[in-house]
Amino acid sequence: NGRDGLDSLSLPKADFRGLIPFEKSFYVECPAVQAMSDTEVAQYRQLRDITVEGREVPKPIRFFHEANFPDYCMQAIAKSGFVEPTPIQAQGWPMALKGRDVIGIAETGSGKTLSYILPGLVHVGAQPRLEQGDGPIVLILAPTRELAVQIQAEATKFGSYSRTRSTCIYGGAPKGPQIRDLRRGVEIVIATPGRLIDMLEAGHTNLRRVTYLVLDEADRMLDMGFEPQIRKILAQIRPDRQTLYWSATWPREVETLARQFLQNPYKGNDRNS
Ligand code: ADP
Ligand code: MG
Repeated sequence: NGRDGLDSLSLPKADFRGLIPFEKSFYVECPAVQAMSDTEVAQYRQLRDITVEGREVPKPIRFFHEANFPDYCMQAIAKSGFVEPTPIQAQGWPMALKGRDVIGIAETGSGKTLSYILPGLVHVGAQPRLEQGDGPIVLILAPTRELAVQIQAEATKFGSYSRTRSTCIYGGAPKGPQIRDLRRGVEIVIATPGRLIDMLEAGHTNLRRVTYLVLDEADRMLDMGFEPQIRKILAQIRPDRQTLYWSATWPREVETLARQFLQNPYKGNDRNS
């Protein structure tokens, strides 16, 4: 349940002085994508029902290889048997790989998880290794245990090629194994907000190394009243992180809230959302 953690100890104010700069921009546009004219880009977006908003939105990719993912991502994609990127992936991968904040909206079942997992793996691969006592580099917040578990399954499947470790932190389950994973060190943490706050307050992990932050089903999280917890968690994460929201719907109230946590984001939509 999302409420635990809120009324207990409060977290110390994070100190962001003297932060070491980090890399978050990895996108190298493939020559075939570079060669697409504005008309071709517009036609492809129309064909796949993609709309975009924001400054300097990159062109979509049409094939997996056009994303210029490292081999460990391509191996995982090859193994999956997928034929082509879904629309949110075609537009969302270049957006996310550029290191900017992203709002990605696409209907349920459209492959949003991989839209942020693969760029997340690239992000992890470019950071210094975790040291003793370090928390995660990628933090994924999700509204429910079920969703968190599904996300971790995808993170495990696609992360195994780069030996990227992940764990799932959610309420209603024993804390022991979760604490063990956190203390051992994991690059990716997928968490529901309440249990994560418990873990932070107890000092089992920290968010000082988080530079890639995902809010999945952001609309549901805000609908479910997680805003105070989200604020508390985000206050622990360095402000120059990359933040990505993924959602099936995007009501105006959610937009207003989300914008407070984003810097100069761009937005990609599919038709049905
Ligand atoms: P969403 O979060 O948008 O509801 P998911 O990320 O859960 O959707 O993906 C739904 C299903 O589609 C998953 O089983 C996932 O493995 C699969 N999937 C992801 N990308 C592709 C793709 N490019 N082609 C075919 N299936 C895909
Ligand atoms: Mg999803």
